[in-house]
Amino acid sequence: MFALLRRLLGRTFSSMFALLRRLLGRTFIRKPGHHDRSAQWSSVRRKYLSKHAVCAACGSDKYLEVHHKKPFHLHPDLELREDNLITLCEDGRRGARNCHFVFGHAYHWKGYNPDVAEDSAAFLRKVKASEKLGKS
Ligand SMILES: [Zn+2]
Ligand SMILES: [Zn+2]
Repeated sequence: MFALLRRLLGRTFSSMFALLRRLLGRTFIRKPGHHDRSAQWSSVRRKYLSKHAVCAACGSDKYLEVHHKKPFHLHPDLELREDNLITLCEDGRRGARNCHFVFGHAYHWKGYNPDVAEDSAAFLRKVKASEKLGKS
């Protein structure tokens, strides 16, 4: 009896919440042009990171982020496309390296660097060359 009641109430509440969320979402939360991240994003991201496990610009294997070369808010259709992704590091500590901010976004989180792949690859070559010079 209680179980049935709880189930009925549960269903009523969850559909009420869903409705409320939809109404609130439409009026207050969503901006025009807002797109929800795909449910697959976190698994696509994880798989991409396991295949591309170092920063494309400095070679670090710490604090890695997956950056969209063409940003999600402008190209939501490219969200899950591997050729639109690149691994860049982002250590949030002050003064730490942050290739995501520098190479991915060229110092403007709201902007982006259309040449991120080329710039990162060119810089990584310099990092490796410098490392070699440091050893000789
Ligand atoms: Zn880096
Ligand atoms: Zn980014």
